[in-house]
Amino acid sequence: MHLVMIGGSDAGISAALRARGLDPGAEVSVVVADAYPNFSICGIPYLVSGEVTHWRNLAHRTTADLEATGMRLRLDTTARRIDPGARKLLVTTADGADEVLAYDKLIVGTGAVPVRPPIGGVTGEDALGPEDGVHLLHSMGDTFAVMRTLEESAPATAVIVGAGYIGLEMADALTTRGLRVIQMEQLPEVLPTVDPPLGHLVHAQLTSHGAEVLTGTTVRQITRALAGGTGRLRVEATAADGTAVSRAADVVLVVVGVRPDTELAASAGAAIGARGAIAVDRGMRTNLPDVLAAGDCVITHHRLLGETYLPLGTTAHKQGRVAGENALGGNREFAGSLGTQVVKIFDQAAARTGLRDHEAVSAGFDPVTVQSEADDHKAYYPGSHRITMRFTGDRHTGRLLGVQLFGHRHAEIAKRIDTAATAIFHDMTVDGLSDLDLSYTPPLGSPWEAIQMGAQAWLRGACQH
Ligand SMILES: Cc1cc2nc3c(=O)[nH]c(=O)nc-3n(C[C@H](O)[C@H](O)[C@H](O)COP(=O)(O)OP(=O)(O)OC[C@H]3O[C@@H](n4cnc5c(N)ncnc54)[C@H](O)[C@@H]3O)c2cc1C
Repeated sequence: MHLVMIGGSDAGISAALRARGLDPGAEVSVVVADAYPNFSICGIPYLVSGEVTHWRNLAHRTTADLEATGMRLRLDTTARRIDPGARKLLVTTADGADEVLAYDKLIVGTGAVPVRPPIGGVTGEDALGPEDGVHLLHSMGDTFAVMRTLEESAPATAVIVGAGYIGLEMADALTTRGLRVIQMEQLPEVLPTVDPPLGHLVHAQLTSHGAEVLTGTTVRQITRALAGGTGRLRVEATAADGTAVSRAADVVLVVVGVRPDTELAASAGAAIGARGAIAVDRGMRTNLPDVLAAGDCVITHHRLLGETYLPLGTTAHKQGRVAGENALGGNREFAGSLGTQVVKIFDQAAARTGLRDHEAVSAGFDPVTVQSEADDHKAYYPGSHRITMRFTGDRHTGRLLGVQLFGHRHAEIAKRIDTAATAIFHDMTVDGLSDLDLSYTPPLGSPWEAIQMGAQAWLRGACQH
């Protein structure tokens, strides 16, 4: 049995590890376009900030660790064409030679590529690039390019286009590194994955650390600055009221989301689903015989929304594990995502799981959302922090649909959202969450745990809606 994985990031490596773990006799080859298998690209912002001191430290496992599991890594090797009928994969190796690999099962984990928005200077023939100080950010190669710009040209000012979670992490990182950050976001508030009242708290956190945050601002053009002007680059944008906005910058980071990298699979006949991602069943099987796929290149099964596209590292790991097991003949299903996520912005964290109002409506629920606050632990014990919570539940059934949290990074925001995610995963009601037997000691919590207070606030508030 020869399993071939395409892609050496979260999905491909998780699949390979699972397959080798289940069947140490299985021949497992991982084809990776670059030389950085199993690197934590989620950690890039912390390399940029300087908190992670060497890029090698971002490796989840070293190449030697991976090879010790018995998998064969084929680095700097690009998969070019899949022939599903013949179960053959054409690759180009590091020395430029073409080679055909025969497989019994193939797992596609080609991931995502950053979106290149239609901004003058970012797209087109004479688009600016890393050598001009204009960067996209996804791979280790992109990271090395950003680090070169930061180290060689010592920029003072950065414009970040986009204020999703990666844009915010980079604002934190570049500010920590000593740059002045200007963040431009075309939507009315930052972090559009949470409701605007929480986005507003994140916004305040950015400005309190010296960032200039321009929301409702659409970037139109990035050009090289005229000789004698300030900065290497000039960023032209339009504010929501139509006025022109212009800023000088030494470096520009364009981080406006990703799209699934599906060309290889699609050209072999793979069916395509939500947001152009590869269609897979819950067992991560594509419509092509003996071809599975996982990670940012595939659709995401959401437990409440059905088929969607939600590219996250945590999901890629789980889908990869399912694909690795099923490639060996298993019958595991990906249990589904709730879009659970958390982001640190300076000293604060914002998190969400499940649905917001508009998503709940689209899934046929009748949602009510109630905002409340609670202390992370008893306020009489030093170091307590307020947590702002937004609970969404169904008005008729009381079912818990979504939770959003904002609070200090030491207020266990991530683990509290995970408790909420566990409750939603198991179809609990808001009232049921309030009944859970959760832990308590004054330095770490309250007799009613913060999210149980949020649940009770929802129960009170929902009666008034
Ligand atoms: C800065 C940043 C921060 C992030 N932070 C978080 C976070 O905090 N939490 C979270 O859950 N997620 C986070 N993510 C998202 C997460 O990193 C991705 O969801 C995850 O990496 C997806 O893994 P993947 O294996 O599907 O694809 P990718 O990581 O995109 O990897 C694709 C792999 O396929 C290879 N490849 C592509 N085409 C070919 C080909 N033709 N031949 C051979 N190899 C090929 C690539 O070289 C690469 O190895 C972050 C992403 C970034 C960029």
